[in-house]
Amino acid sequence: MSSFSDKSSSFSDKSAASSGRAVPFLPQEIIRKKRDGEPLSAEEIEFFIQGVADDTVSEGQIAAFAMAIFFREMSMDERIALTCAMRDSGMVIDWSAMNFAGPIVDKHSTGGVGDVTSLMLGPMVAACGGYVPMISGRGLGHTGGTLDKLESIPGYNITPSNEVFGAVTKQAGVAIIGQTGDLAPADKRVYATRDITATVDNISLITASILSKKLAAGLQSLVMDVKVGSGAFMPTYQASEELAKSIVAVANGAGTKTTAILTDMNQVLASSAGNALEVREAVRFLSGEYRNPRLYNVTMALCAEMLVLGNLAKDSAEAEQKLQQALDSGAAARCFGQMVAGLGGPDDFVEHYDRYLDKAEIVKPVYATQSGVVSAMDTRAIGMAVVGMGGGRRVASDNIDYAVGFDQFIRLGESADSSKPLAVIHARSEAQWQQAAQALQQAITIGGDYVATPDVYRQIREQDI
Ligand code: URA
Repeated sequence: MSSFSDKSSSFSDKSAASSGRAVPFLPQEIIRKKRDGEPLSAEEIEFFIQGVADDTVSEGQIAAFAMAIFFREMSMDERIALTCAMRDSGMVIDWSAMNFAGPIVDKHSTGGVGDVTSLMLGPMVAACGGYVPMISGRGLGHTGGTLDKLESIPGYNITPSNEVFGAVTKQAGVAIIGQTGDLAPADKRVYATRDITATVDNISLITASILSKKLAAGLQSLVMDVKVGSGAFMPTYQASEELAKSIVAVANGAGTKTTAILTDMNQVLASSAGNALEVREAVRFLSGEYRNPRLYNVTMALCAEMLVLGNLAKDSAEAEQKLQQALDSGAAARCFGQMVAGLGGPDDFVEHYDRYLDKAEIVKPVYATQSGVVSAMDTRAIGMAVVGMGGGRRVASDNIDYAVGFDQFIRLGESADSSKPLAVIHARSEAQWQQAAQALQQAITIGGDYVATPDVYRQIREQDI
C-alpha cells in the first residue's frame, strides 16, 4: 500500500502479553464489574475489545457485556476507551504519505430519507480546499444509503484499491467509497451481536460504534449530522441531543476535532427519495439547475462547519461565502465529476446525467385524498415505501432497483390540492404505483395543527459540552 499506511500493528502491542502484565484480565470479570455498576479501566476495555477482535471473547460474552452497558451506561472516559479500542482493532488509515495540501475532513449522518447531502457536501468542501475521503454505508432500515445512491451511476466503483481511493481523493479532493479493508473489525462483531440481543439503542454503544469506524479513516476533523424527527434514528429531540453531545465529547476526547449539528428529519430532506432520483437531484443542485431550500440550508450548515473545523474559514459567514462561490463558479460540480470519473463512472456524467441514470416506466403524480395544508409526515413510513418499491433492502442480500422512488415532494406547510400533488411516483408497474400512492397518502397528514420546525436546530461544539 503506497498511498497510506496501516497502523494496525500497534494494536497488538497493547495486549496483556506484550505489556508485560502478570495476570491478564478475564472477560467474565470485566462483565461482572460493569454488571455491578463499577467503572472499567481503559486497560480492561482494551483487553475485552482485543478479545472480540481475535475471537477469544465469545458471542455470549459480547452479548452480556453489551447488556451490562445497556443497563449501567458508561462514563465519557469509558466511552473514549471503548471507541479507541474498537478504532484500533484493525487498520487505522494514515494519510501523511499523501501530502494533501489541505485538512482531511469528513461528515457522518445518523441517516435519513432523501438525505443526499454527502453527494454535494464532499465536492463543495473539496472545492474550498478540504480533502474528503468519505467511507460511507448502505441503506439501513428506512434510511437511504450513500453507497446505494452512487451505485446507480454506471461504472462507479465503491470498492476501489487503497491506491485509487488515495489518488482520487488527492486529485478531486473527494472520494466517496464503501468500507475499505479492515476498519474497526471489533465493531462489526459487537454490532452483529447487539443487533440480535436488543442492545442497539444505547448511547454509549452507538457513540463508540459510529466513531470507531469514522476515526479509523484517519480524519483530522469530523462534523456529525444528528437527525431529529419522524424519520430520525433517535426517537426524540432529547435523545438526538444526548447522542450528539456524547459523540462530540468522545470524538474530541479521542483526538479528532468534532462538532455535531442537529438537523430536521420531520420530512423528506430533498425533493426526492430513491437512489437515481437523489443522484439526479444532487447533480442539479451542484450545477445550479435546482436547489431545494431545505437541502441547501442543511448542506450549507454542515459544509460551513467542516471549513471552520479545518481552518479553511475563520467563521461560518466566511465559510458560507466560499461555499457559495464554489457552487456558483462550477468548481464543486467539477470536483463531483472528477470523483465520478476517477472511480470508474462516465467522464461526462455531470453534463449528461439523464443519459446514464436508470428510469422507471411509470412516472405520474399522486394527489392527497382531500385538500389542505400538510401538517405532518411520517418520514419513516415514506422511507419504508421506497424500500417497498425495491429502492432499498429488506435483507442484506436484496438487489436494489435504482430507478424507483419519489420526486417533487410536497413540503410541510404547503397546501395539497388537485393541482399540487404530494409527490411524483416513479414506479415499475401500475400495481407498484398504486401501492406507493396509498403508502404516501397514509404517511402525509393533511389538516390539523402545523408547527414549523427549523431545518437546522443547533450546533454542539466541544466548548458546549
Ligand atoms: N450506526 C452504527 O454504525 N452503529 C450503531 O450502533 C448505530 C448506528
